[in-house]
Amino acid sequence: MDRVEDLLRHQLEVRPSALAFYDSSGARWTYADLDRACDDLAVHLAQSGVQRGDRVLILSENCCAKVAALFACYRLGAVAVPVNARQTQAEIERIQGHATPVAAVLTTSVSPDAQAHAAWMNAREITGRFGAVHLARTGQSNPDAPDDLAVLLYTTGTTGDPKGVMLSHANLLFGGRTSAELRNMTIDDVIYGVLPTTHVFGLASVVTAAIHIGAPVQLEARFSAARLYQALREGVTLLSAVPQMHALLMQYTKEQGFDRLEGSALRYVSSGAAPLDPDWKRRAEAFYGVAVQNGYGMTETTAGICATSNRIGVPDVSVGPPLPEVNVRLDETVSGGGGGLGEVLVQGPNVMLGYYRNPAETMRALDRDGWMRTGDLGRFDAAGLLHIDGRAKELIIHGGFNVFPPEVEAALNAHPQVVQSAVVGRRADGDEEVVAFVQVASGDMPDTEELRAFVASQLAGYKRPSQIILAPSLPAAPTGKILKHKLLGHFADQLA
Ligand code: ATP
Ligand code: MG
Repeated sequence: MDRVEDLLRHQLEVRPSALAFYDSSGARWTYADLDRACDDLAVHLAQSGVQRGDRVLILSENCCAKVAALFACYRLGAVAVPVNARQTQAEIERIQGHATPVAAVLTTSVSPDAQAHAAWMNAREITGRFGAVHLARTGQSNPDAPDDLAVLLYTTGTTGDPKGVMLSHANLLFGGRTSAELRNMTIDDVIYGVLPTTHVFGLASVVTAAIHIGAPVQLEARFSAARLYQALREGVTLLSAVPQMHALLMQYTKEQGFDRLEGSALRYVSSGAAPLDPDWKRRAEAFYGVAVQNGYGMTETTAGICATSNRIGVPDVSVGPPLPEVNVRLDETVSGGGGGLGEVLVQGPNVMLGYYRNPAETMRALDRDGWMRTGDLGRFDAAGLLHIDGRAKELIIHGGFNVFPPEVEAALNAHPQVVQSAVVGRRADGDEEVVAFVQVASGDMPDTEELRAFVASQLAGYKRPSQIILAPSLPAAPTGKILKHKLLGHFADQLA
């Protein structure tokens, strides 16, 4: 197999009438249904002028039609550009300006946000065996893509503007296969698809992995703790989520008075895309009754770099050993490194082709031998397991000492009234101060003095936040990851 659409062709041969995807609009598709939906959508795209090497914007929230749009692009040799419909018009226009797509497919039947975008994009409704979606013509054909390019995926934008990552068919096939193998996926699994398929974790580790094996996916357009809880009780066996989703589920079940998940078929839970907090891991494992595996990856590495395969109750939150065929080494010469700590470098079949239309950034990230700089600082323990201390960019140097935000966040998150937190550095008087933004449970709010005392018992003085801002919610990406670079601006009027 050398193209992602070969996975669908294979399932069509071996299990055409097996359930492949189902969603909140009521669609329930077998592989044969998916195949027919792709055919219909590919005809519409071709009629809109899409040719090999053209980009197609897919403005979506998770649903069956989204999967059809992806595979229609793969079949046409076009490059899919999946973008979450919850992004703003300005964010979408920025991506459009960069990727210059010929057409846009909008999954309007499950997404009010996609409907709103359909209006300014002058999209028209089309129907077919894919159901109903909107289609807009957004430019002339302008093929501009390496032959093997499958998707252009924009990074979360945690540290700045999202970057367009070029992932090849080979990248996605590798990511899907390794993710399925790591989880021992079988056709008897029922996979919960709540991670947006506009992000690499949902696209590679959930959707591509599921088609690789032939297991059905319940696609969820938007995260809701209540619906996740219900799905877990209705037969889901495999859950992949960002840590914030586990935290929100813990919050919900605590409010509802359920402290253990009863009567479920759940057998595998993973957390990835952001640091996993030790206290969340402990609480989530107590609730799920199965281990929470920590996976470390990024858009640029088709998700997976490292992952744990721990038994339940292992207290540390290493990210485990590198995945098979993936090489990891540390560059200890970077600032913030030394003493076993270094920037994580990755090489292997998971590494991207480069940043689209950005040779300078590509050169900075990738060397001639295919080693990629992740920007993350990590260290290996005696057992060969990697620990991520934080991002080099987010390292706070306070009074000459290194402060890693994830450690401070973990201390805050351990407080029972804290839902989640984000810590950033802020320049002040030639130094950097530690500022914490804390989302607290509605109702009984702790005050900042109480939180200050709480973290003081866990953290050395230089690591303690000089300001703690409490908020009912924090600016987040559609995955639930907190957009850290927006925090200081967003809460500017509350900062001293
Ligand atoms: P941007 O690159 O636009 O600033 P981003 O880096 O958050 O955004 P993603 O590709 O979604 O975009 O995230 C990858 C990053 O997430 C990694 O570089 C790492 O910093 C962090 N990360 C992912 N998984 C883990 C994990 N298990 N533990 C700690 N950090 C993680
Ligand atoms: Mg990044």
